[in-house]
Amino acid sequence: MEPIEPALVERAQPVSIDVLVVGAGITGVYQLYRAREEGFSVKLIEAGGGVGGTWYWNRYPEARFDSESYTYAYLFSEELFNEWEWTEEFAGQPEIERYMNHVIDRFDLRRDMQFGSRVTSAVYDESSGTWTVRASDGSEFRARFLVAAVGVLSIPQLPDVPGREDFRGESFHTGNWPTTPVDFAGKRVAVVGTGSSGVQVIPAIASEVASLTVYQRTANWCTPLNNRPITPEEQADLRANFEAIREVLNTSAGGFLHSPHDRATFDDSKEERRAFYEKMWKSPGFAKLGSNYTDMIPNKAANAEFCEFIAEKIRRIVKDPETAEKLTPKDHGYAGKRPPFVTDYFEAYNNANVSLIDLKETPMVRVTETGIETNEGLREFDIIVWATGFDFGTGALARMGIRGRHGLALEEYWADGPSTFLGIQTCGFPNLFFPGGPHGAAANNPRYNGDQVDFIIDTLLYMRDHGYGTIEVDSAAEGEWTNMMNSNAGNSPFLESSYFYGSNVPGKPRRLLLNPCGRLVLHEKMADVVKNDYKAYAFTKEEGAEGRPIRGEEPRRVDRNCSDE
Ligand code: NAP
Repeated sequence: MEPIEPALVERAQPVSIDVLVVGAGITGVYQLYRAREEGFSVKLIEAGGGVGGTWYWNRYPEARFDSESYTYAYLFSEELFNEWEWTEEFAGQPEIERYMNHVIDRFDLRRDMQFGSRVTSAVYDESSGTWTVRASDGSEFRARFLVAAVGVLSIPQLPDVPGREDFRGESFHTGNWPTTPVDFAGKRVAVVGTGSSGVQVIPAIASEVASLTVYQRTANWCTPLNNRPITPEEQADLRANFEAIREVLNTSAGGFLHSPHDRATFDDSKEERRAFYEKMWKSPGFAKLGSNYTDMIPNKAANAEFCEFIAEKIRRIVKDPETAEKLTPKDHGYAGKRPPFVTDYFEAYNNANVSLIDLKETPMVRVTETGIETNEGLREFDIIVWATGFDFGTGALARMGIRGRHGLALEEYWADGPSTFLGIQTCGFPNLFFPGGPHGAAANNPRYNGDQVDFIIDTLLYMRDHGYGTIEVDSAAEGEWTNMMNSNAGNSPFLESSYFYGSNVPGKPRRLLLNPCGRLVLHEKMADVVKNDYKAYAFTKEEGAEGRPIRGEEPRRVDRNCSDE
């Protein structure tokens, strides 16, 4: 082999830009669009081979939205809204990926996007107030602002079961699905996990495989998604009502179109309640949460009655009473865990080739070269599908090698759980933003992530107008927000056993990773920041810039240790 000339192996000069966005999911692409529209020099890098983020990686059979397609999609352009016709109320992954490709081409964003580029380190340089970001493909950027739009469901979590790596057949995690189709026909297949992903895959492959064994640790309160095509009349209605739809989605707590109910459970007679639950059962997706009785979540008796209604449905659908019993949750009420929405899920267990193993009764002992062994023996498989969830909320942020002031590692700073301001920034990491990260909200994700992106852009414009080069959240403001998140955790419907607390990841601190105060409080606090002239932050001036220091003072410097006060 020819020796390589030293000059050729030298690192290329880092690309210098205003904003580096990491992640080509719905949030990152919107951030790229907004930053470019406002005249910032911006690039986006993404580990995957294409656009979509979660919707790129989760391409398992029947992966699909469970928010209505047009409520999940972008609302920043009426032309885009009008020209893209979603074929179904709840679009499948291929259509979602096509949409995202359409968006980046339509707005000419692809030229500033780089795929197959996973961040390996992101280090803040105090002297220049910039981030140096290195990626797996050898590229290097120097950016004034780093926006880590890396998603909450990006790091697949695989169980720590002995022998998992010894399996000689094919195995896949739903969140890291191959881009080439998996051939299930005639195969002996195991699916481990019955969260929202598992319950989508199971009915999708049940009739194709030779045998399907489902390993369930916790049963979930699954109800029908009730997907259907969108008719031409409905398409026309959507277009005609764009402004009204956008208004509701931009201002509502959940970011859905479902109308809230005006009655509590026991305002109605038994017969009326029954009829109402039937209506809920036939309603689309999250209407079971958004349009249910007002007390369905907080009132235990109300929740139990709704659960009993679902349990009855399970018993009626699933022919084998023992299987029906196993499929009925015992340890949580409706919305104690994130409820999945399904198509023919319970029906799948009536297929003779589908069997259910309850891991609480029959624990998994090990994975062998040929299959899965429980305390009842070994079952052999050709394919194992791990539908076992994610290191939610902080998983991706903690793996990017983010180092702030004084070399502080983000994963160390957050060792006891995330500490954030508005779920967007954290003290000690100037000029870093993470929209869609922990403490954001609990709602239709793109809606509140989009609110955060808009807030970030407003902040960058404020800085540009004032000639500021760096921004860092004040530790008191961060402490206040973080305390509010932690002290209100009990108001969230989710139990500590839910992955929203990180409980599925061994060793992870149990902290609610959502914003239990909700999207409207997030809106209120973001508005307060602007109203109070950004006093939650310390700024430093850009060298040579003519900016006014905030509140007429010299820019404050944060030089104390960052702490969760
Ligand atoms: P998940 O909800 O965390 O479910 C993981 C499943 O794997 C659970 O049943 C869990 O049991 C099981 N599991 C975990 N570790 C296990 C182990 N060691 N042994 C046996 N079983 C184990 O993950 P997901 O289903 O991928 O869904 C994650 C989130 O993604 C959803 O909540 C939703 O927000 C989103 N999602 C949305 C859609 C959609 O329709 N739009 C589709 C898929 C996913 P335990 O419950 O006992 O922990």
